[in-house]
Amino acid sequence: MIGKKKVTILVPAYNEEDVLQQLYSRLINVFNTLPLYKFELLFINDGSTDETLPKIKLLREMDNRVSYVNLSRNFGKETAMIAGLDYAEGDAVIIIDADLQDPPELIPEMIHYWENGYDDVYAKRNSRSGETWIKKTTATAFYRLLEKVARVPIQRDTGDFRLLDRRCVDALRQLRETQRYTKGMFSWIGFNKKEILFDRDPRAAGETKWNYFKLFDLAIEGITSFTTTPLRISALFGCIVSFCAFIYMIWIIAKTMLFGEPVAGYPSLMTVILFLGGIQLISLGILGEYIGRIFNETKNRPLYFVDEYNNVKINNFDTNKLQAVSKE
Ligand code: UDP
Ligand code: MG
Repeated sequence: MIGKKKVTILVPAYNEEDVLQQLYSRLINVFNTLPLYKFELLFINDGSTDETLPKIKLLREMDNRVSYVNLSRNFGKETAMIAGLDYAEGDAVIIIDADLQDPPELIPEMIHYWENGYDDVYAKRNSRSGETWIKKTTATAFYRLLEKVARVPIQRDTGDFRLLDRRCVDALRQLRETQRYTKGMFSWIGFNKKEILFDRDPRAAGETKWNYFKLFDLAIEGITSFTTTPLRISALFGCIVSFCAFIYMIWIIAKTMLFGEPVAGYPSLMTVILFLGGIQLISLGILGEYIGRIFNETKNRPLYFVDEYNNVKINNFDTNKLQAVSKE
């Protein structure tokens, strides 16, 4: 028989002990409906502090389709995903959250479109059940803002749940910036995209790892890694303010020459100083944001370190190169 195509299911997992079993059985049910494919179920244990890793190891003992990468500490989901892409063996990779908010039952449809020539089949949420309205509105507002300022189209209401062809995976693996905004990268690499719709379920168990601080961070990440528009806005702002100040200056000079100056003017002076001070601080902040990114990227550190891959302890002597060969 000719070799079956292999599909890697990539699951970043951080303290997900409560859902693993459920996730595994739902995935296996899906695998069973697709006998024409080989599957690899690749867990990236992102420094979990609970029983996630032992549970993954148990699954591997029962089922050799299960693989895992144990990262040396918690690096965050974005980094866990690139680690997963580095280690995935499949002809296609499907990224899915461990918490079952992304229904595995969508996988056959994704594979169907993949077979029809699409390289990136992404699932778009119809609704966000189980999430507070604050999260819903902030998410919508953010996507809208990002779309306006970034020069790459970013798919709205789309998470990381998607199928990527090997070509996309290899493209993504070359984007090795440390501050990652993967959602934008999916758009940036291009290739043939296909959208499918689904209803996002509430988390099956456990708790979300995101808080508003982290989400804010991700938002800043998204904007600063894909556009320099804020820099331009602050420059534009500076121009407008200087222009107004110039007109005002002429007015003051003219007024003083014509009518003299009986002092006063404290309130207007104060207002102008405060206003300009504010604008300067904002512009400095924006500059700082970009300089910080340059600083982080120039350090050129490896993105992550691996502790263990499928029961083998890994020596990370040159992580960026090692990943290419580690699977052989
Ligand atoms: N995750 C991770 N590292 C982290 C935080 C989260 O690998 O530092 C994983 C987590 O285990 C889950 C996915 O990323 O599989 C999405 O996390 P979560 O459900 O907490 O995010 P939300 O669905 O609320 O956006
Ligand atoms: Mg979730």
